[in-house]
Amino acid sequence: MKLADLTFPAAEAILKTGAVALWPTGATEAHGPHLPLSTDVIIAEETCRRAAPAVRAELGLAGVVLPPLAFTVTDYAGPFAGTISVPKATTVAYVRDVLLAVADQGFRAVCVVNAHLEPDHRFALRDAVDAARASARCPLALADPCDRRWVPTLTEEFQSGKCHAGQYESSLVLAARPELVDEPVRVELAPVNVDLPGQMKAGARNFKAMGADLAYFGDPGAASVREGDATYEKLVQMVVTMTKEALA
Ligand SMILES: [Zn+2]
Repeated sequence: MKLADLTFPAAEAILKTGAVALWPTGATEAHGPHLPLSTDVIIAEETCRRAAPAVRAELGLAGVVLPPLAFTVTDYAGPFAGTISVPKATTVAYVRDVLLAVADQGFRAVCVVNAHLEPDHRFALRDAVDAARASARCPLALADPCDRRWVPTLTEEFQSGKCHAGQYESSLVLAARPELVDEPVRVELAPVNVDLPGQMKAGARNFKAMGADLAYFGDPGAASVREGDATYEKLVQMVVTMTKEALA
């Protein structure tokens, strides 16, 4: 269930029975010529939506999905229309304060569920969770697929790091919001085998400078609903595990 869709008496009742807050975090940024700017938000929200029944089954608590974080640090896609970035310090302060306010509501735990893979955004989330932990009134968890622990559970393309708007993310959007994928464009896209992590380490400042003229890496043409569904299962396991460990 989505927190923002509830009335306040309904929210009060669910909090009394015991609930975990799941906070989807994504970005508003270019994802190739075939995926929507909201790709990461869609993936994070869909992961939370699918995780809620697993949270109920495995932890005995209601999984309540918060409104998503849609604006954050997203510098690499900066040269492309529709990409909205805010500084890291702003993101850290905002995420920290939202986490504290959510924890004050009486949730048993809050789990940040991330789908935007840019390093500075991931570091912002980590710093915000660390800063909030000192005074939060419930345990906080951060479920981030780029953490070393989860990478081996995900697809080959994801593990390669060449995965912005490629097979991995295209599959996840196809499985969640197929009507938002430009299929005639997607099926014609040639693979872009640029070493994205290597380019980042070498100091390339954006996707264009890395040679991704259409803001994608990897192989979007190979995406499938089947792969997307299989990946969501892994992401749900990540969310349940991180929440369980935070509660322990
Ligand atoms: Zn993305």
